[in-house]
Formats: sequence, structure tokens, C-alpha cells
Amino acid sequence: MLGLFTPNYYIHRFNALRPAYLKEHGIELLVCDIDNTLVAHDIAVPDQDVLDFLTAIKEAGIQIVFISNNVEERVATFAKGLDIPYYPFALKPLPKTYWKMLKDYKINKKHVAVLGDQLMTDILGANFVGLHTILTAPVVERDLACTKINRKFENMVFKLLKKTKRLTKGVYHE
Ligand SMILES: [Mg+2]
Repeated sequence: MLGLFTPNYYIHRFNALRPAYLKEHGIELLVCDIDNTLVAHDIAVPDQDVLDFLTAIKEAGIQIVFISNNVEERVATFAKGLDIPYYPFALKPLPKTYWKMLKDYKINKKHVAVLGDQLMTDILGANFVGLHTILTAPVVERDLACTKINRKFENMVFKLLKKTKRLTKGVYHE
């Protein structure tokens, strides 16, 4: 059970994820959460660090797709002009949208990695589907109201992960 909450890789910030790491693990598609993974939930558009990160991933020949639990308007505004497809209102951790994406891309799950900031949504759902999971520390402390509840459970899971020597909060794999 705890394995479903354990990411394959843990980083302090999205741009600590190197394209070389993804290549080494055979990743061809990076599924990227937006809120608190790339920017704070109340920041509408990508900043230069995000743009540089997305460009570096693309230049390595890896496709990117955004998957967000947020509404279409937020996701569309963020993705505007980036030429990156997106799946809003994804209902993570339900596997539904991950499965739809695998079908749409006709890609084997072993070539797909998910980058997200939440154990309870991004990582749980993606591990359930069998994707490669990458947890990043949130870019800021502030969260949406619904995420605040998730964080309470997340902290309980972090404690269990530490106790079972699977993962320690703040001890990154980079
Ligand atoms: Mg998030």
C-alpha cells in the first residue's frame, strides 16, 4: 500500500529534473502537473524558469503534456502559446485521465513519467497506473483550500514513508 505513495524520484524543484535522467529511464512522454509543481496556483502563466525547463525537455526529444485537477480556463491560460496539449479537471488520483492519455498517445506506460507535487493525487494515481513517478517539493507554501486538506493526509503519509525508510521529506534524490 505504501508503495503506491512512494515516488521513483524526488527533487526539490521542477528544474532539477534533467532531460538526461528521463532519457536514462526510457521516458518519451513527461506528464506534468501545473499548480505548485511549475508555478503557484495563483500565478496564471509560466515564468522564464518554467519556459526554459519545458524547452530543455522538448529539445531532448521528450513530449510534454499537462494534467491538472484545475479547471479548463486555468490550464488553457497557462498552456497558451506553448504548443503543449493538456488535460484539465483530471480528477487525480483517479486513474481515468492517465488511462485516457495513454490511449490517446498510444504509448506504453513504461515510457511515461509523471511530475507532480502531491503524494495524494499526482503520485498515488500515477503509481496505480504503473507510470514512472517524480515528486517535486511544492514551489510555494500556499495551496488551494482543497489541497490544504490533502496536505494534512500527505504529512501523515510522509511520516509513514520515513518510518518504513522509503522516503524522507526534504531528503532529495538529486
Ligand atoms: Mg499540484
